[in-house]
Amino acid sequence: MNQQGVELKVCGVVQGVGFRPFVHRLASECGFSGTVVNCGDGVVIRLTPPLFHFDRFLKGLMEDLPPLARITSLQEKKVNDFPPAVGFSILPSEKAGSAGTMVPPDVALCDECLQELLDPNDYRFLYPFINCTNCGPRFSILESIPYDRLKTSMKVFPMCERCEQEYHEVTDRRFHAQPNACRQCGPSLSWHDRQGCLLTCDDPIAEAVLALNQGKVVAICGLGGFHLAVDAASEESVTALRDRKGRKAKPLAVMVPDVDTARQLCLLSLSEEELLLSRQRPIVLLQKRQNNGLAPSLAPGIDLLGLMLPYTPFHHLLFRDTRGPRALVMTSGNRSNEPICTANADAVEKLSGIADNFLLHNRDIVTRLDDSVARVICDRPRMMRRSRGFVPEGVVVGQPLPEIISCGAELKNTFCLTRGNEAFVSQHIGDLSSHENLIFFEESVTHLQNVLETKPVAVVCDMHPDYLSSGFARVLGLPIYKVQHHHAHAVAVMVEHGLDDETYAVVLDGVGLGEDGTLWGGEVLQAGLTSYARLASLEQLLLPGGDMAAREPWRMGLAALWQAYGPEEMDKNMPPSLAAVPLYTRTVLTEMMAGRINCPLTSSCGRLFDAVAALLGLRHKCDYEGQAAMELETLARQAMRDGLGEMVKKEEQFSVEIYEEQDRLVIRSSSMIRALLKSLAKGQDPALLSMLFHRWLIASFRSIVEEVGKRLGKKKVVLSGGCLQNAVLLSGLCRELEQVGFVVFSGERVPVNDGGISLGQAVVGGMMLKKR
Ligand code: ZN
Ligand code: ZN
Ligand code: FE
Repeated sequence: MNQQGVELKVCGVVQGVGFRPFVHRLASECGFSGTVVNCGDGVVIRLTPPLFHFDRFLKGLMEDLPPLARITSLQEKKVNDFPPAVGFSILPSEKAGSAGTMVPPDVALCDECLQELLDPNDYRFLYPFINCTNCGPRFSILESIPYDRLKTSMKVFPMCERCEQEYHEVTDRRFHAQPNACRQCGPSLSWHDRQGCLLTCDDPIAEAVLALNQGKVVAICGLGGFHLAVDAASEESVTALRDRKGRKAKPLAVMVPDVDTARQLCLLSLSEEELLLSRQRPIVLLQKRQNNGLAPSLAPGIDLLGLMLPYTPFHHLLFRDTRGPRALVMTSGNRSNEPICTANADAVEKLSGIADNFLLHNRDIVTRLDDSVARVICDRPRMMRRSRGFVPEGVVVGQPLPEIISCGAELKNTFCLTRGNEAFVSQHIGDLSSHENLIFFEESVTHLQNVLETKPVAVVCDMHPDYLSSGFARVLGLPIYKVQHHHAHAVAVMVEHGLDDETYAVVLDGVGLGEDGTLWGGEVLQAGLTSYARLASLEQLLLPGGDMAAREPWRMGLAALWQAYGPEEMDKNMPPSLAAVPLYTRTVLTEMMAGRINCPLTSSCGRLFDAVAALLGLRHKCDYEGQAAMELETLARQAMRDGLGEMVKKEEQFSVEIYEEQDRLVIRSSSMIRALLKSLAKGQDPALLSMLFHRWLIASFRSIVEEVGKRLGKKKVVLSGGCLQNAVLLSGLCRELEQVGFVVFSGERVPVNDGGISLGQAVVGGMMLKKR
């Protein structure tokens, strides 16, 4: 060892994150001579002999990394003929080679920068774009690689002498911090009226706080896109925002200055506090406190509230004046069903009917990133929407895959690119049926391919031919692999947890096209990475009107009634909630079901939730996707909190019934529906009935897994699908399956909803291509 030099090739997130200064410090501490240099696909460290304590160096390299760095591979090579070196130095970057480096995601302001921001004696006191190597914008400002200031939207801001000095000083916290800037040389904020005309003022932040205090709607240009902000304590302002945006009931996210404020508004567990404070700063869904002083219409009908903490310097400045609002609605700055605005001119055009004022900045947002949304269930953080702060981080796959693009599903769309043994799930794109979102999808595909330098050799899409993502796949002119929707859901969770062997998968979802032409969505599969078998499902219901049924739960209510009692008896058993639907409308639907016109069959769990919500009288129509299910979950939790569960008599529980069909086991839901309606007719509390429905669902799927477990002998279960964003359902299933001896996995870093489909698709497709 002492006679030979060593060359270390390090790949991962190692550029633009303070990695080389870290290596410099470590090598100097060990007394090593040599060099470190950025190359196209990582960092190369050359150490000349003698190398006493080499192990200590390696250990430090792996364990004491700077906050944002991540090593995915480390190759060591012995070298005989290094020229002798004196001391350790950082060499200028070598020319870009092949891909392999990764751009870090955007990071919330770090504590050191925050201190400087608020320190009257600091050079960058109150400078709204302060950042350093450990924090600040990254992916959102990146045009192409290598990650270098000239390839970001900071290129129009040449550094002043002072910033330049910091940038080149190895020991400085801003060494090679690409977005480094100060008031002399960097971006700035400006204040505008509703038409976007500049209003001259000393302090745009102070103007914004004043406007918010007056109840106005302010459009704020952020990190990954615009926000629309109002005082979250003012019911009047929140209602005005909802009216102008045409967003009737969908919950609005709220930003608060610190954890203490969050604690006053919501109940916080330790893991939830950690998640709120994590450097990704997602929106965290939390249990609301009663009478927390915020506007009641923030999240009507739901016991959760989405909170996040400030993540850019100017967010912190918005809360600095304690006379300003202590909680701000910060909802996506877009028109309904369109992507979040990123360009100032576009935002002014699209949001001028909504916002009273604009707080703009002149650092361009290159890549659109919504706020990420997460929730802690069973003490684990789980992504609901994965975007800012997390993208473009890769998910490690067990083995290298060919370069693939997978196109995801239709709603909550994401796509995914593979490179080496990693899969890169894109940011949340949204509902592809909107033209603007489709453009966003195509732009993001091009951008991420550039950043990762991949050239897909095959494309993967859903089996559903009508998804626009499937249409996109067809025009690429690459070999196409089609993956069943729920198989993709299952594999996404398997990949996240490194499961290669066949496992059971309980996929509780909206609808996805099945192999038999019916719509699936309440399935138990035996899933491998390239194949699966359908072992069981929920009993099929009619889906009157197809997609319409998801927006109008009363349709599913009638379909469930039809299934439970048949056409002759259904009217006699109709609950008041459905009787309230005009007779004519009901008749049309009954005739559709009788003639099987536009009434496909579905085993969807999401649609069963809709049916139960309609029968219990929760709602006939949804204002947003999943509303009925979220309200049912809220009711079930309320019943549990009120201790209604303990008072339930045995005969009041909904009994689990399973029967065998030719190809699979089936959970009979019609008997549960009859029991539910009987209890409802007796005047039973809908909250209790919702809880019993959740319990029935959990017990049914536990029974199925136990049963197939006996036959096939496997012990691992993955839980996936959009319905498992429901905490009552997910935690109940986890608990009960573990009690009967199964090891249970569910989505954490990747959403269990359709946002995770692209990951499953990419791996199934990649493995199939490899096998061929
Ligand atoms: Zn910093
Ligand atoms: Zn400067
Ligand atoms: Fe799905």
